[in-house]
Order: sequence, then structure tokens, then C-alpha cells
Amino acid sequence: MSLRIVHYNDPVLHTKGAKVTSFDGALTRLAEAMIDSMHDAAGIGLASQQVGQALQLCVVDLRESDADFTWEIDGARPPLDLFMPLVLANPKVTKVPGTEETVYEEGCLSFPKIRGDVVRPDAIVATFHDERGVAHTLKCDGLFSRCIQHEVDHLNGVLFIERMDKKARSEVDEAVKALAKATKAAAKKASP
Ligand SMILES: [Zn+2]
Repeated sequence: MSLRIVHYNDPVLHTKGAKVTSFDGALTRLAEAMIDSMHDAAGIGLASQQVGQALQLCVVDLRESDADFTWEIDGARPPLDLFMPLVLANPKVTKVPGTEETVYEEGCLSFPKIRGDVVRPDAIVATFHDERGVAHTLKCDGLFSRCIQHEVDHLNGVLFIERMDKKARSEVDEAVKALAKATKAAAKKASP
């Protein structure tokens, strides 16, 4: 089942997610629906806020991307096919000390057609629970790391346009304003 992806500036996108406490059938179904929605939209990551639910829950799938990155999950390096799509509940991210900052043009399924440069640390360590509540530690860099950082920002109500520097932000300013206007008009139409 695919869910509707909410666009900027729906208020849920600025809402910090509640901690996931029950790893039950409802959580599995939500995670599966988020994975379907992400695949339908050809995205590599999706946060619960983007389907209208403010939780500490996101999904990522980088199997279709250029795997120009490294990873280690629970001390091993399994092929991506073995653990993706990946469900992350209650993720916590720390940057690896001394890692370099990299710049990359990010996009977001809640900002159709809008892209802009964002600077983020390259290598990170993320701890999280999977959909069954099992704890994991993931070390990664490159696009994998960037995707996780972008999604974890969503879970804290932070959007990629807020991570852009002044110049990058000003380049997308008009498109962002137009999107917010269109989203507001659509919401008005939907509710009588
Ligand atoms: Zn996003």
C-alpha cells in the first residue's frame, strides 16, 4: 500500500517524531507502506513525517544508487541486498571524529523538483532499532551516510532547506515559496 507523501509546508514536516515504543504489526505495516511509497516515488529515503506521522521512523533503500560508499553493520559488511530496504526506528547519529565535510546536491520527496547543495559530515555512526525492535550499529559514509542524516533530520522536524547556506537557500527560495502556496491551496480544497 502506498501512502500520500506530504509536501512543504505541511506542519507535520516541522514536528519532532515521538519515540517508537511498540514493535508490533502496526509498525511493520506502516514501515512496509513507507517502503512502497518510497519506491513508487523513486526515492532513496523516506521519513514518517513525510507520510503525515510524526514518529522516530524512517526507511532507506540504496540498492539502485551508485554504491560509491562503504558500510559496516554490526561489525560486518553484508551485501546491500541482504539488509535493504532498511527500517530505522529511534535512530541516533554521531559523526566519526575527524571526518571531512562534503557538499552534495540533495533533493527531497516533500520538495518535488527542488534541489540544493547541503554540507554534511561524511562518515557517521548510527544506532537504531529495526522493525522487530532489534538494536543495530551502522557505520557508513558517502551517499548512505548523507541519506541517513537527511532522514534523521526529518524525524527531528528539520528540513534540508534549513541546512543550506545562504546562497544555496536563496537559489531555491522562489520555488520553495511557490510550493508552500500550492500545498496550502491544496489543503484548503481538501477540507470543506
Ligand atoms: Zn527529505
